Amino acid sequence: MSRQNDLTGDSTSVENLRRTLRITSLDDDEEDESPVENNTNQITQLSEDDEEDEDDEMEVTLGLVEKPKHDWSLVPHLFPSKAGGFPAWLDPINLPSGSSTVCAICGDPLQFLLQVYAPLFEKKSTFHRTLFIFMCPSMKCLLQDQHEQWKRPSDSPSRSVKVFRCQLPRSNQFYSYEAPKRNGTDKPSEVKAILCSWCGTWKGCSVCGSCKRARYCSEKHQASHWRIGHNIECRKLAVDPQHTNSSSVACNTVWPQFEIVNEDEPEVDTMSENGDYATALASAGHVDEGFNSLLDSFEADADKKSWATFQERVSRVPEQVLRYCRSAGATPLWPMSSGRPSKTDVPKCNYCGGPRSFELQILPQLLYYFGVQNDVNSLDWSTIVIYTCEASCDESIAYKEEFAWVQLPSQSTTTLG
Ligand SMILES: [Zn+2]
Ligand SMILES: [Zn+2]
Ligand SMILES: [Zn+2]
Ligand SMILES: [Zn+2]
Repeated sequence: MSRQNDLTGDSTSVENLRRTLRITSLDDDEEDESPVENNTNQITQLSEDDEEDEDDEMEVTLGLVEKPKHDWSLVPHLFPSKAGGFPAWLDPINLPSGSSTVCAICGDPLQFLLQVYAPLFEKKSTFHRTLFIFMCPSMKCLLQDQHEQWKRPSDSPSRSVKVFRCQLPRSNQFYSYEAPKRNGTDKPSEVKAILCSWCGTWKGCSVCGSCKRARYCSEKHQASHWRIGHNIECRKLAVDPQHTNSSSVACNTVWPQFEIVNEDEPEVDTMSENGDYATALASAGHVDEGFNSLLDSFEADADKKSWATFQERVSRVPEQVLRYCRSAGATPLWPMSSGRPSKTDVPKCNYCGGPRSFELQILPQLLYYFGVQNDVNSLDWSTIVIYTCEASCDESIAYKEEFAWVQLPSQSTTTLG
């Protein structure tokens, strides 16, 4: 993603792109692979992680949202990073289908959250590469998802948050070999899948039996469309096949659309006030009646320390909605130290069997821009962390599912017990 500006800027030659790439793509990943299994006790594991965070701050690219500059800014052939609205599918034909597209808890088709264009120039097949994140807008489902994310893949966890990775070589059947000019004259892909007339997000696999025009991803969306007006339009279409659909997408529940723009995270002298603050917080707890209370207070302290670090980093650019860092050994910025996955909680890649590592995280600021209400039942999270196949493998289908880990605000987790 840090390279997106290069690709989107007018000036860029491919050579320039490649040069930037070599700087940002780090391949020395082996040292991180030490056998940290669960036999290391929790306390040492946590403090090691924390030291790592403080000692060398990795370069993080931040994502901020802006209203798109032009109405063509976010079209697929300009390879956008965007939040809300509809996905700009990279492979416009071989979209995800079946159970991948629905919330495994309530069964509703998932809503598009955001996509990040994050090409990797270390191999040909990832010249274009985009991650797509979808979720069920129901907080009830997200609370249930909290339990499911701990399950092993063999137990088929029912997730309400899903991530897809799609990649294409520079030379492909959909897009020009040359970088887009970005002046409104670039040509779209000539082929694209017919999308659902209701959600405009997923493939319209089934067609309305009477008009044979409207397409749907699911029975649920067909029913919604019928209730909200297709019952009338359908009759018009049936008598007058030339009648044009009033709008291509009927639902009005998608989140508002924004362009995601990049910015490097500014550095701050972390050894100064914040370091002291965090240490002071960490030494504040002093209960020592038995191991459990010790552990409890340790966790509370670790949470406070984690929160202080989180606040400090985020306050450098408070409007950030996304943090991106694919360097070897990069770790997410956790709001809380409890409720983080261990290495074994992040499943191996479903396709190549290789390890997954952290690539980006989404912050709750996005909900503010989406205008999501701030009440008890509203959608809320502390962070959504995305882990992707380290090799960004090419096996199997066009849209490969990756792994999301959701950390909820502490109140929701305590009510769950
Ligand atoms: Zn759901
Ligand atoms: Zn649909
Ligand atoms: Zn119809
Ligand atoms: Zn893989």
